[in-house]
Amino acid sequence: MARIGFVGLGNMGLPMARNLARKGHEVRGYDLSAAAMDAAAEGGVGRAQSAADAARGADFVISMLPAGAHVKDAWLGAGGQGGGMAAACDPQAVLIDCSTIDVETARSVAAGRPMLDAPVSGGTMGAEAGTLTFMVGGDAAAFASAKPIFEAMGRTIVHCGEAGAGQAAKLCNNMLLAICMIGTGEAFTLAEKLGLSHEALFEVASKSSGQSWALTTYCPVPGPVPGSPANRDYRPGFATALMLKDLGLSQQAAEAAGAATPLGAAALELYRRFAEGGGAGTDFSGIINMLRGTAR
Ligand code: NAD
Repeated sequence: MARIGFVGLGNMGLPMARNLARKGHEVRGYDLSAAAMDAAAEGGVGRAQSAADAARGADFVISMLPAGAHVKDAWLGAGGQGGGMAAACDPQAVLIDCSTIDVETARSVAAGRPMLDAPVSGGTMGAEAGTLTFMVGGDAAAFASAKPIFEAMGRTIVHCGEAGAGQAAKLCNNMLLAICMIGTGEAFTLAEKLGLSHEALFEVASKSSGQSWALTTYCPVPGPVPGSPANRDYRPGFATALMLKDLGLSQQAAEAAGAATPLGAAALELYRRFAEGGGAGTDFSGIINMLRGTAR
């Protein structure tokens, strides 16, 4: 069993750390929030005094934080002043960041040491159930040694390439998902105007060339897929605010790399409007309600 330092015990990090402890690993956690620390302790996670303290003596050091600035603070010390996890951990420790952040920060925070970027998909339900998908970038030997640790928290573990490749996969996947969800919402909106029932469109598109995960697993209208958030008044699921963050990161990456992503840019604008109009806390599939209310 491994010694694991885990920093960031929020909606995702808390159940992930608890799953590691449940599988018999010795986990020491740290979060700025005292309530998160208490909840983790109830789940068998030991209390560290700081991010650096959590990292000290651990075989694997994992962070699960909101955005790039938090990841920099935790790994390099507040304001990059030192005293962070990167300096505190043992030379042979495997460093892993599971946050969804920009590719540049992901490549820079390890202060010259190899680090795995390992963002996830599957949401809080996947984190609770231990069924997350991990998209991992970084050194192949570090990936091989960390694989059993990922398997304690997830079901699908993919090594995507060198450092930053995990974040790249996450950003490309979520940009595609946002575009598909808007397209699916537009198709249902047009069908409604043409007098075509939701069921008829679903029956045809789910078995033909309009098929996608957004349609068949996460259908944005109630009825055809009983488990989708549309059936529970668009409670997340995956909140629009998080989708907006990921679309911002994908546009930032596209600009830096010189990639043309006009539909990604349009998706960002539509999700920004939806969030600013009150949809930020709603599931991202709820954008269909904004599309319905938009005059041509
Ligand atoms: P969250 O806000 O619930 O949790 C983040 C935690 O980090 C908080 O408890 C906060 O107190 C703590 N924190 C912030 N700065 C810290 C620091 N310097 N040291 C220690 N603790 C610190 O966020 P979340 O929903 O758990 O998301 C975490 C990451 O996972 C994000 O990057 C998000 O984009 C990604 N993600 C989230 C979901 C989801 O459905 N929630 C799905 C996939 C990926």
